Amino acid sequence: MNLDYTENQRLISQMAKDFAEKYIRPFVMKWDEEQEFPVDLFHKMGEYGLMGVLVPEQYGGAGMSYFEYITAIEEIAKVCGSIGLSMAAHNSLCTGHILAFGNEEQKQKYLSKLATGEWIGAWALTEANTGSDSGNMRTAAIEDGDYWIINGSKNFITHGKSSNVAVVLARNTNSEDKRSSSSFIIEKGTPGFTHGRKENKLGMRASETCELLFDNVRVHKSQLMGNAGEGFKQAMKVLDGGRISIAALSLGIAQGAFEAALAYSKERQQFNQPIGHFQGISFKLADMATEIHAARLLTFKAADMKIKGQKMTREAAMAKLYASEVAVKTANEAVQIFGGYGYTKDFPVEKYYRDAKLCTIGEGTSEIQKIVIAKSL
Ligand SMILES: Cc1cc2nc3c(=O)[nH]c(=O)nc-3n(C[C@H](O)[C@H](O)[C@H](O)COP(=O)(O)OP(=O)(O)OC[C@H]3O[C@@H](n4cnc5c(N)ncnc54)[C@H](O)[C@@H]3O)c2cc1C
Repeated sequence: MNLDYTENQRLISQMAKDFAEKYIRPFVMKWDEEQEFPVDLFHKMGEYGLMGVLVPEQYGGAGMSYFEYITAIEEIAKVCGSIGLSMAAHNSLCTGHILAFGNEEQKQKYLSKLATGEWIGAWALTEANTGSDSGNMRTAAIEDGDYWIINGSKNFITHGKSSNVAVVLARNTNSEDKRSSSSFIIEKGTPGFTHGRKENKLGMRASETCELLFDNVRVHKSQLMGNAGEGFKQAMKVLDGGRISIAALSLGIAQGAFEAALAYSKERQQFNQPIGHFQGISFKLADMATEIHAARLLTFKAADMKIKGQKMTREAAMAKLYASEVAVKTANEAVQIFGGYGYTKDFPVEKYYRDAKLCTIGEGTSEIQKIVIAKSL
């Protein structure tokens, strides 16, 4: 595996960095405090290719590989975890599901809108009573002639309110197999398809998280992806790729927190010297740098396997598990290095600390990643 940045990675990394400095950094705390999901920003990200990084050019995307994709997410997340999370959910989950399992007609119709950022996508698997045990979902899809009738609700859905289209997983209640489920592309405005409560969250506050409600929603069979009964298997494959992007999101948050703490350790004087001269502080920084480096190696290894078309369920889970725990630990130490100032909203580290925690929960908790890894041993 060659870890040197490719020309494309260098370009996308610089572009994402410049984009984040210009269009994200000035508004980070406003969006966070007002819990505002900045829809227009995502349309603009589309103009820069950030909403369809993996989508082939023939469907209006940037046509890049997983290396460029995770590089871009890391750069955006360094400045704002929320925007990084929404970018990851849009690219890997909704768009990624259609790219992997949609038919040609579905790809033509939806990818061009999603990849250009004209439309925002959501991906709905989790329900109020089935999170980790998502295969046990209760939202029901019953076949009725050329249509499927969908009833139920989905919980914690990123862009649940503002998305134009959602990929929705629902259980086939008329199948003999109790865990049989299918995936559907459902457009906003379809009668009976609405959103419910928006969550008020600890972190990732500029990334909208909302309930989706389905009340006798009639979905034409042309909106089914693949065959009926394949939904959960498709979802697990989509999550393999999604977990690499959450590892990249974690890396960005960890790197952002580390850089802030390193700079502060050189500026802040106590006992007539910079606090970074104290071994107690410099050892924290050494641990942070080492763990971020290790997380990056795991993340790029999983991405490399994904690019080569190798099975990487275990490696994606390892990267997500480790990188997300490193993000939480790094952000925690960054607050410690900032002391009392780190506990205020005048400095960026309290936000990294709040945002990082989502990374150990979304797209499968750390415990679920350990189950995935253990099963493969
Ligand atoms: C901000 C945010 C955005 C999200 N976006 C989306 C989205 O876009 N689409 C979507 O479908 N979902 C989304 N989710 C849902 C997310 O994937 C779930 O929250 C997550 O999978 C955990 O499910 P749960 O919250 O129901 O926790 P639970 O499954 O109830 O878990 C509670 C605790 O029990 C532990 N646990 C559960 N089972 C086991 C076990 N077998 N062994 C050991 N421990 C176990 C868990 O690790 C956890 O610590 C989002 C969540 C958040 C918070």
